[in-house]
Amino acid sequence: MPFSWTPTIPAARTELDVLRDRVARTTALAVVGLGTPVAATLQLLGVDPLAGVLSGGAVLMMVLSLVLFHAGRGQIARLLVIACLSLALISHSALSSGITSVPFAGWTIAIVLATVVLGSRAGWLMAALGISVGGALLALEQDGLLVTTTSELGRPQAFVTSCGLFLIAALLTSSLMTSVEQALTRRARAVAERTRLLERYSHAAQGALFGIWEWDLATDIIWTGPGTQGLLGRPRVEISLTEEAWIKLVHPRDRDKATDFLRALQRPPLLDGSADFRIHHADKDWLWVRCQAAVVLGSDGRPDRIVGSIRDISEHKSLESTLEHRVNHDFLTGLPNRKYFLDRLEAELPERPGEEARPLAVLFVDLDGFKLINDSLGHAAGDELLIELAQRLRSTIRDPDLIARLGGDEFVLLLYDVDQVDQARAVVDRIEKALAVPFQLAGRPVYLRTSVGILLTTSEYTCAEDILRDADLAMYSVKGKPSQGVGVFEEGMRERILETLELDQHLASALDERQIVPWFQPIVDLRSGDLLGLEALARWIRPYGEILTPTQFIHRAEATGLITRLDRAVLAQAAHTVGSWNQEGAALHLSVNLSARHFSDPDLVDWIGDMLDLAGLAAGQLQLEITEAALLSKEVTVTETLAGLKDLGVRIALDDFGTGYSSLSYLHAFEIQVLKIDIAFVQERGMLGPGPICKAIQGVAESLDITTVAEGVETEAQREALVALGCWQGQGFLYGAAASSDEVWPMVEEGMKRKRVSGT
Ligand code: C2E
Ligand code: CA
Ligand code: CA
Repeated sequence: MPFSWTPTIPAARTELDVLRDRVARTTALAVVGLGTPVAATLQLLGVDPLAGVLSGGAVLMMVLSLVLFHAGRGQIARLLVIACLSLALISHSALSSGITSVPFAGWTIAIVLATVVLGSRAGWLMAALGISVGGALLALEQDGLLVTTTSELGRPQAFVTSCGLFLIAALLTSSLMTSVEQALTRRARAVAERTRLLERYSHAAQGALFGIWEWDLATDIIWTGPGTQGLLGRPRVEISLTEEAWIKLVHPRDRDKATDFLRALQRPPLLDGSADFRIHHADKDWLWVRCQAAVVLGSDGRPDRIVGSIRDISEHKSLESTLEHRVNHDFLTGLPNRKYFLDRLEAELPERPGEEARPLAVLFVDLDGFKLINDSLGHAAGDELLIELAQRLRSTIRDPDLIARLGGDEFVLLLYDVDQVDQARAVVDRIEKALAVPFQLAGRPVYLRTSVGILLTTSEYTCAEDILRDADLAMYSVKGKPSQGVGVFEEGMRERILETLELDQHLASALDERQIVPWFQPIVDLRSGDLLGLEALARWIRPYGEILTPTQFIHRAEATGLITRLDRAVLAQAAHTVGSWNQEGAALHLSVNLSARHFSDPDLVDWIGDMLDLAGLAAGQLQLEITEAALLSKEVTVTETLAGLKDLGVRIALDDFGTGYSSLSYLHAFEIQVLKIDIAFVQERGMLGPGPICKAIQGVAESLDITTVAEGVETEAQREALVALGCWQGQGFLYGAAASSDEVWPMVEEGMKRKRVSGT
């Protein structure tokens, strides 16, 4: 940027301007002051041509001297002052026709006024002197003591008196002029020096991209150096302005800040400081600058001027805002992060418990099965999903509500002015609606479900972390319970959650201590009632005999990942039991439930092969019940695992068909051999027996050559209806609930007998 530096010195000129102003006023007063005695003399003496010329000449010379003085020719001016006074003296003495105190008093008053205006200490002294002299003369004249005519007072005395008085006046004026001139010179020198200094700084500052300025408080003129001009892209005339004009360049939003800063500087104890604000650059719009300033006090101890610098901090500011954004936002989705969320929440909370605060609702949203997606489709797909999810979630809230990503698959919403659970539920409904449309991941549709915790704040909360923790607890209370997607925080939940945590711990040790065992439910031929196989269903036998069913712990095993250990334990024990029965001739197949999580485990096939060998169970007699979730991913391991199992000779059954994704394409693509018709369709609501859905499933299975097994057959009517539909296998209380191996054994023995009898 080209800088031009012309040698005119704005600040110096400004200061000289002030002084010139004063001198001009003094001149006017002096002229009046001088005019007074001359006019009075002429009047008293009667118009005398010579006196007129001389006195007029004196006045003119006085005026001229002041003009010269004004122009900086102090020396000549002083000489002229003396000359003109001498001229007046000569005129007076030459005429010597009389003396009156009036002109002297006027003369004195003029000097007094002039000195007061000039304001120097010498001036005050002279003023005092002048007043005393003038007063004395007036008093003398009043009392008649001062003789005012030449007839009464001898010419010589009159001459001497006037001479003396004029002399005093001349000396006083001369000394007054001297002191004014000295003051002027001193100031001019100081100004020149400061200007030189500022100029030097300005040049140094130019390279460092900062500008120097100085604000003269008396004249309210802000001087700017070339650095400042360059920084703002404006010529000096545009920015060497008054404070008011300067402030107009500041961004409207920062104006108060800038004004306050400059005001505060002038009030002790703050005499220096800095402030950041935006200022208008001629062609770059707004520029962030840091303004640093210090007050310079005058000899009277009051602020005289403010000197400062401005520096371009736009880059710094943009970096700062990028950093701030990074600190407060999630990198992946761009949503606010945990910290930002907590800050915003904290800002709304009462300072003390019980204080009134704005009603808020916090929604804790956790994705179900995200780990599975991540593990099976890969992290890139997982990221893609989170990004799209963030967009969808964002569309469910209105201003000023906030949505943040806490990390992983956890999101949290802050809803303002919500004091009813139903209002929060409405938002959950919107979320569900937004997720109803499948996500397209790696070219396939993926459905997402969430577990949501709702918390309505109360005046007892004073810490944002507590709120988040309780909202998390509310979410946790429904996590892994497919029937409930939304949990509302309530008192007592914390205790229950603690129990859950305790359960998790106990579950781990229960596995170590083999407290989890398979029970067996018979699977029979619905036509003949023959025992075909057994489904192993996990039971937790607590040390004091309490028996827990899967609904009480399977979801925790899924949630904690213990499920893989649990499934393997159940499978190994069940295979061992059924394997030994088969060796005795039972010829039963074993059906075991396997969590979707196993399908990302590349060791599964080998493990099952080894385990079957060990248990003495033929692979063809093992049927693994999986849910559609396991098939959701297209990851190689899933396909490979299924192919491996098929090669081994193990059959795959799809459990709970109709309750989940129910994609017919899966049935075909994964060559599923068995379909388990869920209890819900066998005991369809309002029906005595299996309803239309059951019929439809049966139809589909038949067309794909898939065997069906009905679950929850409790009545003879259901059995008959199922047989009529073509579903020939089933299990349910009609034949027996799951029972321990000891309890099931007689039934197995009975089956063997019947087989021997019938010869099969
Ligand atoms: P599921 O595989 O659908 O098992 C059928 C459930 O229905 C069993 O409950 C069973 O006891 C119950 N049931 C059977 N017949 C009837 C009936 O006639 N009427 C009624 N009302 N219920 C009947 P259970 O044993 O509580 O198991 C619940 C679920 O837990 C199972 O559903 C299965 O998904 C899961 N599960 C059980 N054991 C294991 C296991 O070892 N590993 C895995 N991953 N999941 C298991
Ligand atoms: Ca099952
Ligand atoms: Ca089932």
